[in-house]
Amino acid sequence: PVPKEPPKIHRLDESVVNRIAAGEVIQRPVSAVKELVENSLDADSTSINVVVKDGGLKLIQVSDDGHGIRCEDLPILCERHTTSKLSKYEDLQSIKSMGFRGEALASMTYVGHVAVTTITKGQLHGYRVCYKDGAMVNEPKACAAVKGTQIMVENLFYNMIARRKTLQNSSDDYTKIVDLLSRMAIHHINVSFSCRKHGAARADVHSIATSLRLDSIRTVYGVSVARNLMKLEASENDSSSLVFKMDGFISNSNYVAKKTTMVLFINDRLVDCAALKRAIEIVYAATLPKASKPFIYMSIVLPPEHVDVNVHPTKREVSLLNQELIVEKIQSAIELKLRESNDTRTYQEQT
Ligand code: ADP
Ligand code: MG
Repeated sequence: PVPKEPPKIHRLDESVVNRIAAGEVIQRPVSAVKELVENSLDADSTSINVVVKDGGLKLIQVSDDGHGIRCEDLPILCERHTTSKLSKYEDLQSIKSMGFRGEALASMTYVGHVAVTTITKGQLHGYRVCYKDGAMVNEPKACAAVKGTQIMVENLFYNMIARRKTLQNSSDDYTKIVDLLSRMAIHHINVSFSCRKHGAARADVHSIATSLRLDSIRTVYGVSVARNLMKLEASENDSSSLVFKMDGFISNSNYVAKKTTMVLFINDRLVDCAALKRAIEIVYAATLPKASKPFIYMSIVLPPEHVDVNVHPTKREVSLLNQELIVEKIQSAIELKLRESNDTRTYQEQT
């Protein structure tokens, strides 16, 4: 064959780069909801309300009662890499906020139409402004507002035809959004959450701020889950410094389900840990006579320097130091608890 001329290398347009990157941060409607709700939590909100139309493709609206956004910050709000949460790289080690990349809002403006209404404390009126491709579409307009921020994302993926098509054919994004908010609600129990379909009278998630986790789980997941839970705690220290601390609720032998529900927060971040989930399922299968899958809510606290939160833009996966040790410890704590409760049960049945 005749050797081909090498193709010319050129620099991609910034708008192309941004749209490609945005598609990675906002993979589906539920990713946008997660980012918006995390922003509301970072803004110290006590009430967060979500409205969704057409699985999030037509509309995602998140309203909060947080600290709002300063008018003078609105021009750069949706530019890539603008944030109020991080200044220098070293801050990442001890970051407490959910966000830090300054990418979420920007990403949404590259793959959807974004409108922001916000008011800060002591102001007589709020501002409303729309964004597209990282920039303001109009000057902020004065408008009536109560407290906090409302962000609307419309026509998500209007400019990504393949993505829109695949999502339109799958009807489960609203289910994913409800699932996400249920998880958030039982962890952030001092915040009230709601989630409803646009135009629906009833909310599908409706939590009330409480100081008792079990109350929150009952409200969100129902009585049949809450009455079959046991409290679980475990921790490990290494010559007086903390390795990990865990507390949560796990289902007992009366609980019946075909699928595992595993709600895991590590340093207040909702994450997945396949290894831990598998380890827990193994204990349940080995300890309980009937093979029910468990319900698990677990909050693990680690020294911040032991978690790398910056593995992926969605931050859903994290890398842990001492992961094997932690998994082992939690596994044996659960096994002990299950055996204890099983023994009492057998005893009660006999007497
Ligand atoms: P990040 O959360 O990583 O900083 P985002 O793009 O999600 O990046 O948000 C950019 C900035 O916009 C945040 O740092 C915050 O200052 C502000 N912001 C976004 N959403 C809200 C909100 N609901 N309330 C108050 N401020 C917000
Ligand atoms: Mg954010």
